[in-house]
Amino acid sequence: INFQNASFKDFENIPGQDLYTTVKEFHDYLEFLRNNGHLNYRIESISPVGPEMDLLLPGESETTRSVCLVSNDYLGYSQHPKIKAAVIDGISRFGTGSGASPAIGGHFIYHQMLEEKIAAFYRKKEAILYTTGYTANSATLQCLMHKEDLIILDMAVHASVYEGALNTNVKTFLHNNLEMLEQVLKNAQDKYRNRMVVIDGVYSQDGDLAPIDAIADLTNKYGGYLVVDDAHGIGVIGKTGRGVIELDNAFDKVDIITGTFSKALGNIGGYVLGEPNLIEYLKYQSKQHLFSTTATPAIFGILKAIDLVDEEPEWRSKLWANINYLKNGLISAGFDVGTTASAVIPVKIGDIPKTLEAGRLLLKTGVYTNPIMYPAVSKKNARIRMNVMATHTFEQLGRVLEAFKQIDGILKISNNYNS
Ligand code: PMP
Repeated sequence: INFQNASFKDFENIPGQDLYTTVKEFHDYLEFLRNNGHLNYRIESISPVGPEMDLLLPGESETTRSVCLVSNDYLGYSQHPKIKAAVIDGISRFGTGSGASPAIGGHFIYHQMLEEKIAAFYRKKEAILYTTGYTANSATLQCLMHKEDLIILDMAVHASVYEGALNTNVKTFLHNNLEMLEQVLKNAQDKYRNRMVVIDGVYSQDGDLAPIDAIADLTNKYGGYLVVDDAHGIGVIGKTGRGVIELDNAFDKVDIITGTFSKALGNIGGYVLGEPNLIEYLKYQSKQHLFSTTATPAIFGILKAIDLVDEEPEWRSKLWANINYLKNGLISAGFDVGTTASAVIPVKIGDIPKTLEAGRLLLKTGVYTNPIMYPAVSKKNARIRMNVMATHTFEQLGRVLEAFKQIDGILKISNNYNS
């Protein structure tokens, strides 16, 4: 394997090679990245999530204070005093753990309250909780879709959706391409027992949105079910923060909504919303729900966070002012931010080595971002990805813009060089 252009995926399953040879080769690849300052996974922060963080960079003994653009804590809720107080109160009343899986003694009043609250938030009748958003997607699809069925995926959906589709038939359509989706739906009409279209609301690498209304109409026309994962939309998109589904007022057209408490709501956990019989079926049939211990009483923080989405809309306004400030600044400086319409802002670069070097140089100037590459995006589509928070200041984001201009002089990644 050529380390220069390699990615983690190349080490997933090396034909004919035994396990310990593969892990040794992967270890050598990590060393190669580390020696070049390009291993940016698992960077340790010794300060809380926030617009700036103190990082312990590999090989350094002193911490570096960096502007942080890597957190999905979009509204800053993980540090909100009212939410922290709610968590502390919940833990002082109910302790630190729930002690069992839901089927056999681990279902508490706070789980029940959260199921009811998140369902009502999205105007759905029933909800089921999972330990993470990842499990919500993978477990639900795995439980509902089998060999006689077909899952139709937008190519850019999250990895958890792909995992959920491992035991059934899968067809993909090009990202947001309605003509191709229609073709797949039409061809599949009489061939499969159930056809389920799965899309994200906000796409996590490009930050762009799904045309939910149009996809719902097509899915309905050909008799399929529609699932929307709006992990990055909740709290961020729509006048009242109900996500991309609110933009299209498509609440009644989506069969199943999935999402996470781990991003704008500042906690951890996943949920699935839908028609009561379907959610009940999951509650008694979905193994990852049935046989896994329920979330901790820190759920009281999520209950508060959901209230604050309505009670303190100023965080959403501040977030959008920041998104526009950073996005417009990058565009004016000639960077390609694609079609983002959310708090996820990519700066598209293209090749992997240049993207890794951009990440390293930014980090050196005190700007912490995520270089993203294959398999999260296609091979020639590597980029720096940033997540904006409501708690960033314009001064901090101004420093980010300056850092990008500085590295552009070295790497020549903006349109000023290639147009
Ligand atoms: N869906 C999407 C679109 C995501 O970006 C993520 C988070 N990486 C998830 C699901 C998984 O959520 P969680 O982090 O709660 O497991």
